[in-house]
Parts: sequence; C-alpha cells; structure tokens
Amino acid sequence: MVKGRGAPTDLESLLRENPEEITGYLLSQGRMAMILLDQNGVILDCNAFFLESVGLSDKPVGKSIQAFLREGLQAGWDCVRADCRPVKLTFTLDGPLEYSLSGHVLNVHEHYLIFAHTVRLTDHEMVATLSRLTDELTDLTRQLSKKNRELEAANETITRLMNTDPLTGLTNRRQLKERMDVELSKARRHGRPLSALMTDIDHFKFINDTFGHGAGDAVLIGVASILKQTCRKEDIVARYGGEEFIVLLPDSPAAAALDCAERIRKAIEENVFPEIDRKVTVSLGATLFGPTDTEDSFIGRADAALYEAKASGRNRVVLK
Ligand code: GH3
Ligand code: MG
Ligand code: MG
Repeated sequence: MVKGRGAPTDLESLLRENPEEITGYLLSQGRMAMILLDQNGVILDCNAFFLESVGLSDKPVGKSIQAFLREGLQAGWDCVRADCRPVKLTFTLDGPLEYSLSGHVLNVHEHYLIFAHTVRLTDHEMVATLSRLTDELTDLTRQLSKKNRELEAANETITRLMNTDPLTGLTNRRQLKERMDVELSKARRHGRPLSALMTDIDHFKFINDTFGHGAGDAVLIGVASILKQTCRKEDIVARYGGEEFIVLLPDSPAAAALDCAERIRKAIEENVFPEIDRKVTVSLGATLFGPTDTEDSFIGRADAALYEAKASGRNRVVLK
C-alpha cells in the first residue's frame, strides 16, 4: 500500500496499488486457472488451481497445452495468434476431475496468458441432463430386454432343433437318451413300473422301392403322427433310427404296455396312407424295466421281442 494515502475505494486503483497481494492470491488460493504459454502453446508456468484441475502435483512446464485439452481451444487459439486480442474460449481439461473451464486468452508480450474458471451446470441444466440420461438408460434397458428375449427365443429354437428329429418332429435319439436316464432313475429309485415299445415298420424297404423315397418319408411322418396320437402325453415317443421308433411308457406295467402296443398296431393297420394309397403295418416288441436292468439290457430286450414279432409273421406285438 502506498503510504500517506487512504485505501483506494475503487477496484482498479486497489488492484494497481496492491499487485503483490493480488498476484499471491491468484497464484495460490484463487479459483481461477492461469496458464502462461509461449507462442507455440508450450506451458511456461501455471497456478495451483490449474494443477488441481488437471490432477497434477508438479507444473507441466515444457508440455504443450494440447495435452490437457479435449476440445475447444483450437478456434480461439488461431484467433489470438492472428489479431492479438483477448479471446473467449471454452475447453474441457482432460484430467481426472474433468473440469470444464471457460475463459479468455490474452496475448501479452508475445506470450499467451489463459484465465479460465470452472463452468458449473445450473440446476436447470443438471435436471435436463439427468432426465436425458434417464431416458437413455430406459431406452438401453428396453433394448437390452428385447435382445435378451430374442436370445432366449433363439436358444429355445436351438434346443428344440437339437432335440427333434427334423423329418417327423419326434424326440430324436439324442434327447431320448437324456429322457431315458431320467425315467430309468425314477423307476429304480421309486420302483415305478416303466415299459418300452420298440416299433418297426414292416417291409418298409418295399414301400421305398415301390413308391419312392418321398412317399416313404410321408409314411414315416404318418406313422409318427399316429404314434403320438395313440400315446398319452406323458409317454415319450422317439425316432430311434430309420423306420424304428421307441415309446417309453412311464408308470406303465406290462399289461398297460401291451394294451398301448396293440392300440398302436391297430391304429396303423387301419390307416390308409394317401401317398401310397394302401395300408402299412408295424411290429412291436414290448418289455418291462426290471430291477437289475441297464439301459442296454432294457432296450436290448425290447429289440429281441421285436425280432420275435418279425420272425413270427409281423404286424404283431411280442412281450418279453
Ligand atoms: P422289416 O419288415 O424286416 O422291418 O423290413 P424293412 O424293409 O422294413 O427293413 P429294412 O431294414 O430292410 O429296411 C428299412 C428301410 O428304411 C431301408 C432304408 O432305406 C429305409 N429308411 C431309413 N431311413 C429312412 C428315411 O428317413 N426315409 C425313407 N424314405 N426311408 C428310410
Ligand atoms: Mg428296421
Ligand atoms: Mg422295418
């Protein structure tokens, strides 16, 4: 302060008369970022607030200001160079705190001095931003659940295709194996009666040879459909191989299996297959799961019963 005079009552005089106090404040305590750059934008010095803003403890002397900027400076920078006037600029410092700073750059003795302050969002802007983000989030959540539903549907389709015989739509051999494991363990654990029918179309080769493979396929589809219709919904009807089908009958003792086999045999015998305009017969081997059975011995016995049905004249059921 200048002695002998009273304290100035206007700001300009106060600032001019007390440069040290003001400078000290701006360099250490002020909430205004100050950066001194050379003509190429290389940092010569900066104050504490700038360091705080970019998250540094040491002054980045010698580094280009560009290293700290995300956007905004270039237009203002060219303008400063061109006509040496103070220019307003806005830029986002690429520091950990992501301050947005807005301020001016002054050309001082061929060096550049940036003054910039933190830009804060108004309540209104914050609410608007928050509401936009919430909308975006809702939209993304909606898209995500749509994608999840599509994924679930695609997974269901894949599982269905993996488990289904493409020609007849019946359970295929792969899926039969899984379902057989479940039924066998139920039968073993709870002593529930489980039966199996091995079904084979009689003289199918003749059908193929006489009417063609397409007609043969149609007969397979027709037989599969009759099998499905004739069995209960808890029975497992599977295509085992070419013209062979297995029906697993949970909770069915031998008598019930024989009944079911006879119903199947009759239903097929009575059906006229339009593609060949004639009747088709099947032979069936039936068997009941025993306490010492394995899957192989169980199915093997049904197969042996089928073989006997074929050997004894076809279009019949044999229980073993
Ligand atoms: P059997 O009364 O002793 O059972 O005689 P079969 O002629 O039915 O038995 P065989 O095993 O000699 O012939 C079965 C035929 O089934 C042979 C094969 O070409 C045919 N086949 C297997 N899979 C398919 C298929 O998906 N479509 C068609 N059309 N034919 C098939
Ligand atoms: Mg066969
Ligand atoms: Mg056959």
